[in-house]
Amino acid sequence: EESPVSADQPRILLMGRRRSGKSSIQKVVFHKMSPNETLFLESTNKICKDDISSSSFINFQIWDFPGQVDFCDPTFDSEMIFNGTGALIFVIDAQDDYMEALEKLQVTVSRAYKVKPDINFEVFIHKVDGLSDDHKIETQRDIHQRANDDLADASLEKVHLSFYLTSIYDHSIFEAFSKVVQKLIPQLPTLENLLNIFISHSGIEKAFLFDVVSKIYIATDSSPVDMQCYELCCDMIDVVIDVSCIYGLLDDGSGCAYDKESLAIIKLNNTTVLYLKQVTKFLALVCILREESFERKGLIEYNFHCFRNAIHEVFEVAAANQSGVLKGSDS
Ligand code: GDP
Repeated sequence: EESPVSADQPRILLMGRRRSGKSSIQKVVFHKMSPNETLFLESTNKICKDDISSSSFINFQIWDFPGQVDFCDPTFDSEMIFNGTGALIFVIDAQDDYMEALEKLQVTVSRAYKVKPDINFEVFIHKVDGLSDDHKIETQRDIHQRANDDLADASLEKVHLSFYLTSIYDHSIFEAFSKVVQKLIPQLPTLENLLNIFISHSGIEKAFLFDVVSKIYIATDSSPVDMQCYELCCDMIDVVIDVSCIYGLLDDGSGCAYDKESLAIIKLNNTTVLYLKQVTKFLALVCILREESFERKGLIEYNFHCFRNAIHEVFEVAAANQSGVLKGSDS
């Protein structure tokens, strides 16, 4: 009884120089690796498909630049690669000299733009944990300026680059990824609208729709996002999945740590309640509310039921539009 979300998964390409942090980003965001463990990662030196599409809402590939990539090389099928891509994330190591990275950014963007002009170009100014606040702003300004000058020199001033300051040592990498993914979801306004309706009728302060595996939020209601609330919700997902893995699986290790029955309520000692519930195979709703509001639990459950049905409908319609046929809801 799962929605056929997979037909519509946003595809993302991660590129950048060697050692810029691509594998670390992949491991931390999609494989729960702790940031310190990335110190011992083997560097990637080829195109690496990380098939997380069976466990995540997001379809994601890494593409490394081991030194000189030759776009004229006939074995290098950039048409095929860029054509299927919704967003191209280019990672720049902010702790290193970034001149060469900027050159590669320009070459890559020119090439990708020729193949598919509507790719979203996203630049992660990465490893900013080592930089002071002033230095961060200055680096972002400098990279922004140079990257746009380079594009103008190549007569590509039409191309829009978005910039994010990121680090795997805090939640900035998840926040940046969330924004990148949200731009790729055509149903975003509908999802936001449904979240707004749900929270205003249920006395809920804040609600996020999360991709459970990556802890990227694919939508939230229109009230501003407070980083602490987001982190709290991320931590809740970790706790719920960890507890399910330990106690929720069958004796033979089979079963699933996250399924239709997944539901968790955590009461904090400051009269705040955290509420998590499964929405689709990949997505969970995580809400923050006051204890008083939680007294009307029946109402929240009823509203959630309506919300969940609406979300399934949104994705079923999307899948049907894409394939031209109405898929059964079991795909
Ligand atoms: P790749 O070759 O682009 O895949 O780069 P890696 O993922 O192998 O990362 C190279 C090094 O950068 C590793 O030692 C990581 O621990 C380190 N690294 C990655 N992300 C960050 C970050 O956000 N901050 C800091 N300080 N180091 C990072």
